[in-house]
Amino acid sequence: MAGKKLNGTVIVTYRCNAKCNMCKRYQSPSLPEDEITIEAIKKLPEMYFTNITGGEPFIREDIKDIVCELYKKSDRIVISTNGFFTEKIIDLCKEFPKVGIRISIEGLEETNNSIRGLEDGFNKGYSTLIKLKEMGLKDIGFGMTVQDCNACDLVPLYDISDDLDMEFATAAVHNSFYFVETGNIIHEREKVALAFEELINKLLRSNSPKKWMRAYFNHGLINYVYSQKRLLPCDMSFDTFFVDPYGDVVPCNGTREKEVMGNLNKQSWDEIWNGEKAEAVRKKVRCCSRNCWMIGSVSPAMHKYIWVPGMWVMWHKLKSLFAKKPYSMYENKIVREYRDGKVTKEELDRCSTCEVLK
Ligand code: SF4
Repeated sequence: MAGKKLNGTVIVTYRCNAKCNMCKRYQSPSLPEDEITIEAIKKLPEMYFTNITGGEPFIREDIKDIVCELYKKSDRIVISTNGFFTEKIIDLCKEFPKVGIRISIEGLEETNNSIRGLEDGFNKGYSTLIKLKEMGLKDIGFGMTVQDCNACDLVPLYDISDDLDMEFATAAVHNSFYFVETGNIIHEREKVALAFEELINKLLRSNSPKKWMRAYFNHGLINYVYSQKRLLPCDMSFDTFFVDPYGDVVPCNGTREKEVMGNLNKQSWDEIWNGEKAEAVRKKVRCCSRNCWMIGSVSPAMHKYIWVPGMWVMWHKLKSLFAKKPYSMYENKIVREYRDGKVTKEELDRCSTCEVLK
């Protein structure tokens, strides 16, 4: 595997100033003195894409040094943030104008602020995005994690991002060691699927191939919300990895317990990546049944198995020539079966990763 550029996510801190209802990580923060150092970051391999995330990454005082180091080995960097530390974000983007910024906003003002528990969080995040746009940054946008209580805001928030000509990344609530959460679940599956359906149709009607691919990703989110098998294989730990604030290299952020391939503070990258622990983790990934559908594991799969989303997009673009609504959520067998009473909510709940209802 040596020499091949990888896809990496660096979780630079578990400290967070938000208190989101779907992520309890803020209750288990890392200590600043334990967090991944520049020396450890120097050991990372060449990457074609790096996501910097947290916690809230802009809490790190040395975030600029981290970005500077990662740019030496990464073709593209995107930072996921809640957008609260406007001045720090702007300051960093002045120095690194090619960096991507995704600001997590969970809906319109009231919805976002109640989910994220961050005072004036919507206005802070939104005004940060506007300032970045005024500065001429190109790779900026919203990130929204859908759950029962914000599904109605999905399309209105997309419309805002579309008017601003910004990116719009979506997710649905997940459970994992990373989120310190086992109780996330979507109860109102039909309502949430309908919101995704409307978004998918808007994306398909656009003139942007990138948005058509996003339509496929959101189609996969409907499949996930109904607790079904992933639409694409999960190849995490083969050409994609995460590093946590303690220097532990892990396959992804979706496992129930942390699965460690090795530690950057104690080992070289080659020792970790080619070691026995990494192989053992890869064996587990091969039979993982958690069926996550998060961009970190889906984006590499969409590139690797490009013909699957490609055919899906071609078929729906063709349909859009004749139909006002090229996509229907009832294309998914499970959505029809649920509507027709052939499968119950309890059965779907049992297939999910939520442990509270089992
Ligand atoms: S499905 Fe993939 S991303 Fe999710 S926990 Fe399993 S290996 Fe990780």
